[in-house]
Amino acid sequence: MWRRVASLSPLVSRSKPSKLSQEACTFKVWESFSSESHIPTPPKVTPFITFVLGGPGSGKGTQCAKIVEEFGFTHISAGDLLRREIASNSAYGSVILSTIREGKIVPSQVTVQLIRKEMESSDNDKFLIDGFPRSEENREAFEQIIGREPNVVLFFDCPEQEMVKRVLNRNQGRVDDNIDTIKKRLEIFDELNWPVINHYSKTRKLHKINAVGTVDDIFEKVRPIFAALSK
Ligand code: UDP
Ligand code: MG
Repeated sequence: MWRRVASLSPLVSRSKPSKLSQEACTFKVWESFSSESHIPTPPKVTPFITFVLGGPGSGKGTQCAKIVEEFGFTHISAGDLLRREIASNSAYGSVILSTIREGKIVPSQVTVQLIRKEMESSDNDKFLIDGFPRSEENREAFEQIIGREPNVVLFFDCPEQEMVKRVLNRNQGRVDDNIDTIKKRLEIFDELNWPVINHYSKTRKLHKINAVGTVDDIFEKVRPIFAALSK
């Protein structure tokens, strides 16, 4: 019999029918021949993926919280997943810690597997992946391992001076929120993240948002992007 296998396991839609869930319902199905069973496995939903890009302190996490509240996405912060690995003393913890201290990028395999696990363990089908991909290599690894491209890409565009000010004021006790590491993070952002943004700017997926202003002002520019998807 024909058997259907979805790309990511338990991702079942809970949302009402909408353009967003229709796109999310585009099944990625492989059909394989099996002589054992006449009962087809129920088709599973392919998730709706938003990448959220922007330099350190550009407001990615803050705006993600608002999108979660209003549009029911699940927020996956790549940086938070990595910090959780450090805190849990996992095998990769010390390598991740020294990479973050230097403002460098953790190997794609590690980050993508953490994101994959997080998506698979959620029963939501709409994800905000915050702070990833940070390089073309990150982007390619995601496409290869997850087998998907994002549906939407947000880029919070913020001047360097403003980002430095915000990071130094946020007091979250992070090992990388000091002036020396911030400078390195900005250098890495310029070198490796711009190619990713340029890649998506050639598609219709990229939404560039001026990230200067109050949280609510900026969300006014974000809201219509997701509101249009729900129509
Ligand atoms: N990081 C990484 N890969 C990722 C996300 C984060 O290597 O996909 C590391 C990187 O060292 C980065 C740090 O985690 O500087 C903090 O990332 P986060 O997104 O939390 O902070 P941001 O720089 O956006 O303020
Ligand atoms: Mg963040």
